[in-house]
Amino acid sequence: MSQCIFCAIAAGDLPAEVVHRSERFVAFRDIAPKAPVHLLVIPVQHVASIAGADGLDAADRAEMPVFIAETARRAGLEDAGYRVATNHGEHARQAVFHLHWHVMGGALLSETM
Ligand code: AMP
Repeated sequence: MSQCIFCAIAAGDLPAEVVHRSERFVAFRDIAPKAPVHLLVIPVQHVASIAGADGLDAADRAEMPVFIAETARRAGLEDAGYRVATNHGEHARQAVFHLHWHVMGGALLSETM
């Protein structure tokens, strides 16, 4: 099994509540949600964070925003709105070093996150 937990989830080696998947991306529920709906979107290809996005295939880079928006739409978040965020490094408190996008909604979110 991969050392990276999100690579393991993408490979199906670690259980996760997957809500949407393509050949290149996986969306699943955050294990410790910080909003009523809290999803994570990851590229199957491993890069540590947004700072490594130039290491993704061009097709990944093209699909990424479209996949994120489609994930939010399928989760029923589009009308009321949602937040998309990613953390890089210590000051952002990044805890998992595989690029992931937090997709959060389902309530009026804090102004300060
Ligand atoms: P970050 O601080 O941006 O690195 O956030 C990592 C996120 O991954 C946190 O919100 C965690 O709750 C979430 N997380 C960690 N392990 C898992 C897991 N096995 N399945 C789902 N979400 C996870």
